[in-house]
Amino acid sequence: MPVTLLGASEIRALAAELDVTPTKKLGQNFVVDANTVRKIVHAARVQPGERVVEIGPGLGSLTLAILEAGASVTAVEIDHRLAAHLPLTAQRHGVPEGALTVVDADALRVTELPGEPTVLVANLPYNVSVPVLLHFLETFPYLQRGVVMVQAEVAERLAAAPGSKIYGSPSAKAAWYGSWRLAGTVSRQVFWPVPNVDSLLVAFERDAAPRGDDDLRRRTFQIVDAAFGQRRKMLRQAVAPVLGGTAAAASAALEAAGIDPTLRGEQLTIDDFVRVAASVH
Ligand code: SAM
Repeated sequence: MPVTLLGASEIRALAAELDVTPTKKLGQNFVVDANTVRKIVHAARVQPGERVVEIGPGLGSLTLAILEAGASVTAVEIDHRLAAHLPLTAQRHGVPEGALTVVDADALRVTELPGEPTVLVANLPYNVSVPVLLHFLETFPYLQRGVVMVQAEVAERLAAAPGSKIYGSPSAKAAWYGSWRLAGTVSRQVFWPVPNVDSLLVAFERDAAPRGDDDLRRRTFQIVDAAFGQRRKMLRQAVAPVLGGTAAAASAALEAAGIDPTLRGEQLTIDDFVRVAASVH
């Protein structure tokens, strides 16, 4: 029996059945268009037999599209009513036994994922999209690639290169893990309720080799945060609080890493930040 997708009227009926009124607090904007969920799965190049993790499956529209592609899904949902009902929706829509595992939890706090999925596909809750992405990339090294739908500005920041105005702390931190690119547009009209922001798809691919251990990552992120915390200031001033306490000490550390202390944070690649962090220990 093939997997069938949820239609727009079915999604609203399901929400009524479960007494779910979408809440802003949990970023609950459900996709009610089958073409859109298929487009996301296509952008992620999901293959039969792959293990996918989905953050925030909601009523299950994207979940069913991933399952339709023949992948198995581990779905992490914070809303208990939605988490509890998802297996039944899957069963009603022809999902084979064992293809879906639901984790009823806050994605920001999960430390284990059943099945060790290698692909992330999600329509992320907007208010926590960056922290949740960084948490997943940090905590689950087996995650190799993914496509997520996020607020357009966030997608552009994640994919931004040094030198651009929107390149910031999320861009540099995301780049620690791998490469990011914009992967498609999504109309506001495919959501229920219709959000007051635009959305974009962003794709990532983890680098073959990690840039360093956890200690180096922490130190690098500390310098990144300091650099972008005062992004208009020259690096020697902005990062002084975390590099020796004075502009002179920071200048010496930056120069030791081959970085001009009069630059600004937005001009540094993640590898520049890593060199600075590595040079001070
Ligand atoms: N995937 C569904 C879709 O595309 O229709 C729903 C996407 S909706 C934008 C975000 C979903 O994430 C909601 O189901 C919400 O309850 C869930 N959510 C919000 N915060 C979460 C968290 N911290 N951990 C896990 N799920 C969360």
